[in-house]
Amino acid sequence: CSATATIRATLFPGDGIGPEIAESVKQVFQAADVPIEWEEHYVGDQIDPRTQSFLTWESLESVRRNGVGLKGPMATPIGKGHRSLNLTLRKELNLYANVRPCSSLPGYKTRYDNVNLITIRENTEGEYSGLEHQVVRGVVESLKIITRQASLRVAEYAFHYAKTHGRERVSAIHKANIMQKTDGLFLKCCREVAEKYPEITYEEVVIDNCCMMLVKNPALFDVLVMPNLYGDIISDLCAGLVGGLGLTPSCNIGEGGIALAEAVHGSAPDIAGKNLANPTALLLSAVSMLRHLNLHDKADRIQNAILKTIAEGNHRTADLGGSATTTDFTNAICDHL
Ligand code: NAD
Repeated sequence: CSATATIRATLFPGDGIGPEIAESVKQVFQAADVPIEWEEHYVGDQIDPRTQSFLTWESLESVRRNGVGLKGPMATPIGKGHRSLNLTLRKELNLYANVRPCSSLPGYKTRYDNVNLITIRENTEGEYSGLEHQVVRGVVESLKIITRQASLRVAEYAFHYAKTHGRERVSAIHKANIMQKTDGLFLKCCREVAEKYPEITYEEVVIDNCCMMLVKNPALFDVLVMPNLYGDIISDLCAGLVGGLGLTPSCNIGEGGIALAEAVHGSAPDIAGKNLANPTALLLSAVSMLRHLNLHDKADRIQNAILKTIAEGNHRTADLGGSATTTDFTNAICDHL
């Protein structure tokens, strides 16, 4: 009998509901006997000059060393304060692609039963380059950076993902009719990569039309690849199609094979500390981390237990119309395991 070696993974519980849903992941992993040893890191209360944010260099080193991690949501003050913690992570670890799967959950009825979309968001530049300044009083400027290197990299990731996951179509989402240079370059790079994948259908859709098409008929899309801001917005729209932000996972992919999984949602300050959060999004993100580690048996077991608990309907959290607490829901998943 050979025991599976323990794998170290970094865990950022994060802010707001983060610690509650991270606790749920730890409990479920324990119930499923997952061979992961968490290396927990917290957001500090002093700015680390090496990262220019409350995230310390040691935290980033932990992800670099382990190669895998899970992060809870991190709050960013609006319009002031320190460098965004999420931006710091993405920039410093070069987490260039954010993969956001969005599928209908069996047994949980929404307007559509057939949603099965993958949003791939460029994660390092675009409108989120963090380059904003005042030109003169009353006039501010924000720079949208699009580079050939980052666009090719995310396009290549999207087509490779489509090919290796049995997907048929990649749609590049843009506004190149207005942002001719920036989104124009993004599209040019997508077209170049598309030529290398003749078996994958490639199309280009303007972002506003894409929103309309998605809410009218999500089955029109398969894999969507897009610059940073559009990916942020479209993935929340997609979450709404299947039941909300409590359900949708994501995984950040970095250079050198780093994978940092996280939920799509934020720190949900309105329900933080009340044991009301739905941990499904973070749990499914943790499942994607297990798949990255080729721990498919564990991933399947946990995913099935989550889906079964939601489908049965006795232990749903408030966002899904139920009255279960985070703890009730987590215990029900553990019972299924
Ligand atoms: P949010 O995603 O935190 O919340 C939006 C709504 O969804 C709220 O009503 C919230 O209660 C609900 N919600 C979110 N997650 C839920 C869950 N797991 N279960 C049940 N309901 C859930 O968005 P926001 O309010 O715009 O942002 C709050 C903070 O989070 C901000 O500081 C923002 O910068 C940060 N944020 C962080 C990330 C991240 O760390 N990746 C992502 C988005 C927002």
